[in-house]
Amino acid sequence: MEPPFTKLHHLLRFLRPHWHWVVLAPFAMLLESYMDLLQPALMQRIVDEGVSAHDQALIFATGWRMLLYALLGALGGALCTYFSSKAAMGFGNDVRQAVFRAVQRLTFEQTDRFTAGSLTTRLTDDISVLQFLVMMLTRMLLRSPFLLIGSIILVLRTDWHLALPLLLSAPVITWIVIRWMSRLIPLFRERQLRNDRLSAKMQETLIGIRVVKAFATERGEARRFEGLNQAVAETGLEAGYLHATLWPALSLVQHLTVVVILFVAGFEADAGLIKAGQIAAIVNWVSQVMMALIHLSFQTMHFSRSFISARRVLEVLGTEPGIQDGPRTEAPADGSIEFRNVSFAYPGSSGQPVLKDLSFRIQPGTHVAIIGATGSGKTTLMNLIARFYEADGGEVLVGGAPVRTYALRALRGAMGIVLQNPRLFVGSIDENIRWGRADATDEEVAEAARIAQADRFIAQFPEHGATRIAQGGVSLSGGQKQRISIARALIRHPQILLLDDATSAVDPETERRLRQGIRRHFRGTTVLSVVQRVSSIQDNDAILVLDGGRIAGFGTHEELLRTCAPYREIIDSQTPGGKEVA
Ligand code: ADP
Repeated sequence: MEPPFTKLHHLLRFLRPHWHWVVLAPFAMLLESYMDLLQPALMQRIVDEGVSAHDQALIFATGWRMLLYALLGALGGALCTYFSSKAAMGFGNDVRQAVFRAVQRLTFEQTDRFTAGSLTTRLTDDISVLQFLVMMLTRMLLRSPFLLIGSIILVLRTDWHLALPLLLSAPVITWIVIRWMSRLIPLFRERQLRNDRLSAKMQETLIGIRVVKAFATERGEARRFEGLNQAVAETGLEAGYLHATLWPALSLVQHLTVVVILFVAGFEADAGLIKAGQIAAIVNWVSQVMMALIHLSFQTMHFSRSFISARRVLEVLGTEPGIQDGPRTEAPADGSIEFRNVSFAYPGSSGQPVLKDLSFRIQPGTHVAIIGATGSGKTTLMNLIARFYEADGGEVLVGGAPVRTYALRALRGAMGIVLQNPRLFVGSIDENIRWGRADATDEEVAEAARIAQADRFIAQFPEHGATRIAQGGVSLSGGQKQRISIARALIRHPQILLLDDATSAVDPETERRLRQGIRRHFRGTTVLSVVQRVSSIQDNDAILVLDGGRIAGFGTHEELLRTCAPYREIIDSQTPGGKEVA
């Protein structure tokens, strides 16, 4: 487990592996800045000693030196960019990796709380802002103060009177920038929130693109997107307006300062106190001071902006996973499942329990169907077995031990889970099946597909198992997707197979063969399936009937028909004339 990341300075840990680049970059930059400082002095020499004395040799020699210094400066600049890019990219990569890992550890509830949109912008935008900060710090952090102080010293050495206007303009520049920043920082915060919403909308529309098209609501969606997009653009525009006023204000101050300096220098030159080359050099250094001040203010601004992003990244990194690993790293002793007085309410819901005092035991290797009205808690019950959520009261046991005592990998590693809306990944059919167990052989993949009744339709695709699905590949029907997902779960040879309405789009005859195949090939596996159709109850050893979060009955079909009124109602509702079909 990684140490918790809660404070800003914790992010510095991500710089540690790249420390040599972090150190080298400012050194290279010092070379560049030092050359920048030397140039005006050389120019001064050319003007004052070369031009006025008509000394061609000195002009050439100094000119060559200026060229050499410029080349050295360029070399320093290029090296600095290379080193700081290395530092920033390495840092950004590591942070992104850590945030991705943290996101994967979040529980469903925590993911919902952050929202997928916000997690996406944190993983992309916010980390890019931090990456840019590292780039900027390694390049500019020393450069601006170095140029600022160096130029001031050189001006003071040449003619200290001419440094006085600087003393007046520096506070003005600082004041302008502070005022500007106080308006800009809230804008950044707002913009990130609006970005979150925009990216959430984008994801929602892309995931639900079929629904959008089916309902022909593209225009409505585009309008809603436009609204959110506009909101992001507005904050950008507002920042743009601020920017538009800032630059002219700063350059006005800069030029005024130069004018005042030239004015004073004019008098001094008349009095023979200063030479033309010296004035030119001073103007150059003063410009560097001004630019350094402006850069420093921008750096401070980016710094503040990065704080917002850093906090957003740290919120993810510092979130303790809602569900922690237990000490057991070995697989459950067997595939038994037991609920002891289990109660559960979804976190954040009104506290209304979804499961109420549930107790039952399923022996290893038995097949149990769960049936009940929509909302009776069937999926929730499955969620507790895989420990996607933690029971509020009572105990859920797998293999005789409470689920919270297992490391999640050990617990879920023993399970094959097929969720209600199975999601396949971009890749071939075989890759999707092998996703369940990376080291499965081709034969095992084929066998899992066969048992899941997927082999026949796979054989009809042009490239069989190598056929690509999803992006740029074939589209699968709901029933085909479900069967590939079942194959993906079976290939794990799970002790417990959880099928949450996983055969709803498979025809009853195929489903019957599938269930019989599982029973034949996976003798020891406990199979728990949420079912909607009465026909899916066949081939199960027992049926658990849920009604409003409570167990209304648990037994065989015949027993329940005799003793369980809610079960009879379900059977009757699905059987023409009230006759049983199971
Ligand atoms: P079933 O699978 O039997 O249709 P569920 O277990 O999915 O029922 O849901 C049981 C109840 O819990 C429903 O009232 C549903 O609204 C609620 N519920 C399901 N998931 C969540 C969730 N993530 N947050 C809050 N309530 C939920």
